[in-house]
Amino acid sequence: MRSETRNRPAAYPPRASEAARPFWDELREERFSTTRCDDCGDMTFPPKVVCPNCLSERLSWRPLSGRGTLYSYTRVWAAPAVFGDEVPYTLCIVDLDEGLRVASRLLGDHASPEVGAPVSLVFLHYEDVTLFCFEPGDG
Ligand SMILES: [Zn+2]
Repeated sequence: MRSETRNRPAAYPPRASEAARPFWDELREERFSTTRCDDCGDMTFPPKVVCPNCLSERLSWRPLSGRGTLYSYTRVWAAPAVFGDEVPYTLCIVDLDEGLRVASRLLGDHASPEVGAPVSLVFLHYEDVTLFCFEPGDG
């Protein structure tokens, strides 16, 4: 996993709930993590306060590798106004090595990214928040 710094605030920063605050704090420290149920072992993304599989409230934070494969993508040419100066950009669905499916953004000007190819996580440090995205390669 690598990182990039953007010298501006994020165009559309997340509204982090108290329950999700540890995720965003970890991301700022360049750690990518989620919750795992202590009772049934189910991992979910995004992090949860209640296990969607067995309804247990006994969840622990677990690190994720940030590595996966590209499941799907779409190129955005007509974006919401807040992302207007970033078009075109690529949204992607990534299957993480841990078995979780994550929606994110794919960096680079890839006319046609290769579905099934390895991707790795990139931390994007904005002035107000750290976000994550993916790029082709196994990092
Ligand atoms: Zn569970």
